[in-house]
Amino acid sequence: MEERIYLDHAAAMPVHPGVARFCRQFPDGFAGNPSTIYREGLQAQEAVATARERVAALVGTSAPDSIIFTSGATESNNIAIRGAALRNRKFGKRVVASATEHISVLNPAKDIQKGGFALTLAPVDRFGTIDLDALAAAVTPGTVITSIHHANNEIGTIQPIREVSAIVHEQGGLLHVDATDAAGRIPIDVERDGIDLLTLSGNQLGGPDGVGALYIRPGVRVQPVLVGGGQERGLRPGTENVFAIACMGEAARLAGEEMAGESKRLAAIRDRLIAGITGIEEAYLTGHPEERLPHHASFRFSRIEGESIQLAMDMLGIAVATGSACTSRTLEASHVLLAIGLAHAEAHGSMVATLGRRNNMDEVPRIVGAVGETVKRLRAITPL
Ligand code: PMP
Repeated sequence: MEERIYLDHAAAMPVHPGVARFCRQFPDGFAGNPSTIYREGLQAQEAVATARERVAALVGTSAPDSIIFTSGATESNNIAIRGAALRNRKFGKRVVASATEHISVLNPAKDIQKGGFALTLAPVDRFGTIDLDALAAAVTPGTVITSIHHANNEIGTIQPIREVSAIVHEQGGLLHVDATDAAGRIPIDVERDGIDLLTLSGNQLGGPDGVGALYIRPGVRVQPVLVGGGQERGLRPGTENVFAIACMGEAARLAGEEMAGESKRLAAIRDRLIAGITGIEEAYLTGHPEERLPHHASFRFSRIEGESIQLAMDMLGIAVATGSACTSRTLEASHVLLAIGLAHAEAHGSMVATLGRRNNMDEVPRIVGAVGETVKRLRAITPL
């Protein structure tokens, strides 16, 4: 039996072995509640504070208190969009987001329309890069918040965040950046890049699931989505998940330390994969050829269907994605692939491979061979 090859790190990352080692130091978790002042509580408080400093360092802020911990990227996106729009509604009632945002940004942005906010979706070009002229036209003086992800999870395209920031700030509004897939893979500096709110996921850094963070620039006002106690400055009430937060902090530290080397290693594997797979008949790269995440390779194949590719590859021992895991239960074509101009039928034939630390160059021939075999076999039986 050949070993399995896992190529869906955008959906779930195995916990980094260094993080696992760190977590094993606390086999019983943390006894104290960080809101208490006796020794056990102070130990928990210190674990959260250390994690906060580590996450802050990863994203380039010198203010650890600008980081709040959440249950994950979805919650961070909800607090950013809803919380910032509602709290600053006097500034204006328009929200702008790129057409290729994750649904955990698009859905809260659509939902607050019920509260009288208007939503404009800014278009991207055929590589998935935000159209800066269209963005400048969309961001009006009353645009309270604009949300543009750092990089896309389905097509890997990295956005020109500094240019985006200049456009948004010229009108005085706030910029939220969903950096779930970019953090730990490309350098992020909220101060240099002019980011007001930034979403992070614990798992995508190599930490556990069910924990995330939101950076909120000091001075930016946000209304909580959940109301309760005063934890996380009242912005995310509820007893902190101390164990998961501590482990996310270690993941952020290791991600920062290893990013340059690991991204270079993965980019070389990615490039070989892209060269091999685009050599298959009627196989095309989706997303940007250069401005893309180092671990991300995404394709479309004409006359076949993504789900069948996924199943056939699974039988050959390889786990790939066909789009975002978060929308895989709907059979609709991906809004990201439609936004880059693909027709419905084209958008259905997609395959996404996202690499991680266990992948290596030696796997490339087997992956390319499996994709070639799969595509040929499926095309032979397709009614399309
Ligand atoms: N934003 C982006 C860009 C993502 O890729 C994801 C996960 N695929 C999320 C948000 C949601 O993350 P979670 O499921 O951890 O809340």
